[in-house]
Amino acid sequence: MPRRTKIVATLGPATDDPSVMDDIIAAGVDVVRLNLSHDSHARHRERAERIRERALAAGHAIAVLMDLQGPKIRIGKFTEGKVQLARGDAFAIDTACGIESGDITRVGTTYVELADDVRHGDTLLLDDGAIELWVESVANGRIDCKVVVGGSLSNNKGINKKGGGLSAPALTDKDKEDIRFAAEIDADYLAVSFVRNGDDVRLARALFQEAGGRGGIVAKIERAESLNGIDDIIHASDAIMVARGDLGVEIGDAELPAVQKRLISRARDLNSVVITATQMMQSMIENPIPTRAEVFDVANAVLDGTDAVMLSAESSIGKYPAKVVEALDRICLEAEKSVTRSGHRIDSVFGRVDEGIAMAAMYTANHLGVKAIAALTETGSTVKWMSRISSGIPIYAMTRFAPTRRKVRLFRGVYPVSFDVATTDIHEVNCEVIEELLRRGTVRDGDLVIITKGDRSGVEGQTNIMKIMRVGEHRLLNED
Ligand code: PGA
Ligand code: MN
Repeated sequence: MPRRTKIVATLGPATDDPSVMDDIIAAGVDVVRLNLSHDSHARHRERAERIRERALAAGHAIAVLMDLQGPKIRIGKFTEGKVQLARGDAFAIDTACGIESGDITRVGTTYVELADDVRHGDTLLLDDGAIELWVESVANGRIDCKVVVGGSLSNNKGINKKGGGLSAPALTDKDKEDIRFAAEIDADYLAVSFVRNGDDVRLARALFQEAGGRGGIVAKIERAESLNGIDDIIHASDAIMVARGDLGVEIGDAELPAVQKRLISRARDLNSVVITATQMMQSMIENPIPTRAEVFDVANAVLDGTDAVMLSAESSIGKYPAKVVEALDRICLEAEKSVTRSGHRIDSVFGRVDEGIAMAAMYTANHLGVKAIAALTETGSTVKWMSRISSGIPIYAMTRFAPTRRKVRLFRGVYPVSFDVATTDIHEVNCEVIEELLRRGTVRDGDLVIITKGDRSGVEGQTNIMKIMRVGEHRLLNED
């Protein structure tokens, strides 16, 4: 049985060697992520082109996800490169301080409005929470703090506010430029960092589409306040990412497991797609095998129902990019064996005919012992609905559209198939579908399959037929 959970891997210097790219493709990567927080456009363009070329050569549809940097708030630089802060020290973040002239008493920041967003009593977390500052007073753009947790603090480290509430808009000028670049590259997905609400997502989509972008929008959930309006964010986006790095800093690491479970199940309930990200295989940056805790983390995300698990530094700058994809592959495959069927949407009302067909197909498939589902689809929405219901049955998204084949690569349990209907004869189409499944070794004579399609093929949102067929009998039918 093919792996249902999808693997997103960040490309970087460690994957630039074409043979490494081939290795991660062979290991089963579904989506590659280009992180716009690092490297030049030229470098990203090269990576996107190369991975597409290698994927094509290997006969795979691999989706490209471009991830915007977003308003990551950072401190400036220190004249000495870094300072050593001790508990109890006084230290200020001062917008009046030169961006390169920090010292042991104060440092500048890239976000000049920072002082407007913090008050006496707040806690600021620097360097992903490694340094903790307690805000004593705020005046004239200067935030005077006491060091609660000290340590070495070096140039350009990130700043988060515990509990959230930094008001920086989600799209910076750099992001807007990067959105145009993502459209130019024809990214299959655009990930928006630090979204606060659905409007941030809608704005990003509008800009992306204006620039000619055709891909889906992934909303990264990494701010405390995004949890409040989560339904609107899910409705506004095509997928969400549980961005555990920044989110954990804002809400506290101990809160993360429960929030991850809630986000995954909410996304699925609302027919959306979800990626679980950050530090899943952190120790494999250096080591060829994961820790037990990492194995459990990945398996638990699979049991939670995530569509995809993501690698960041593990693949982009790690020592073992292909090995870490292989490790994810085997852990996901094994974890999937203990997934139980859901009672998903058992009480809900369906809004569209194609949605009704998708749900009927899954109900039938799960209860009739069907071997495979083949959905003739234009945009992939039918297979998205289907894959929100957990089952062990593979869902083949059969489409002539390459962008749809790449898009569905993110959906759990969905496999893209390049398929062009050459005939309008209904029996012949059914036959071609089953022959294709036979060629893939997915089904054998005697197996039941479900085919969904529309009366009018080539038209979006027109799926209105569900057909149950027994492999082998399709040949007889065709002779009638
Ligand atoms: P990042 O996002 O890797 O771009 O920071 C993911 C996260 O914060 O977890
Ligand atoms: Mn982040």
